[in-house]
Amino acid sequence: MPVNLPPFWLRAATAVTQALLPSRCLLCGESAKRVDLCEACCRALIGNAPACAQCALPLPSAEAACGACLRDLPPFSQTFAVWRYEAALAQLLPRFKFHHDLAAGRVLAELALPILRQWPGWQGVDRMIPVPLHSSRLAQRGYNQALEWAKPLARALPLRLDHAGLRRIRATAAQTELDAVARRRNLRGAFEASPLHGEVVVLVDDVVTTGATVREATRSLLRAGAREVRVLAIARAPEPAPR
Ligand SMILES: [Zn+2]
Ligand SMILES: [Zn+2]
Repeated sequence: MPVNLPPFWLRAATAVTQALLPSRCLLCGESAKRVDLCEACCRALIGNAPACAQCALPLPSAEAACGACLRDLPPFSQTFAVWRYEAALAQLLPRFKFHHDLAAGRVLAELALPILRQWPGWQGVDRMIPVPLHSSRLAQRGYNQALEWAKPLARALPLRLDHAGLRRIRATAAQTELDAVARRRNLRGAFEASPLHGEVVVLVDDVVTTGATVREATRSLLRAGAREVRVLAIARAPEPAPR
């Protein structure tokens, strides 16, 4: 007969079980000494370098700006993506984003922290703001993956994490279904920001794909009075195939 435990007890029981069992790799099930990912799977996360300094698009050599950024300069001043959206990361991130696997999110924050401590982009930053989900999406998913990933980082750095400074006021079609032009149109007027007073903001997203979301969110933050917006992402997707 199933026992209906309140969520707190379920969480407590899970925590006790995890503490007693040896750690297992989230991806391959091998035993893991450090965090919840074995050494081999950690090595299968590909750091995003070299890349475009503006939009973090993976490039064969380090460039200040890729062709797309030269043609159409983004409103944000720089983008840093910790990993490429390939290999192990392309398995871990969807689990965190779509399948309520918060352990995958914790691993991605833990592994990103030593890399992010070295990021020169923290210089002069006033606050971190995660890219928000629309309330209907948030209700469906139960959490905002960009916010969950940013929480332990903000605590460790430490830096102010402002989770209400930017809101998604319009529900939009899933971006994955759309090409670059349609993505831009789909997002117009989607965000609203609280007043900012010449602050430098780090806008946090999970994956930057075409950059349409972070462009639109940045425009809202600049309109609200931000002096500068820098983008930080867990991962950057390689250029989507032209269609
Ligand atoms: Zn593994
Ligand atoms: Zn670029």
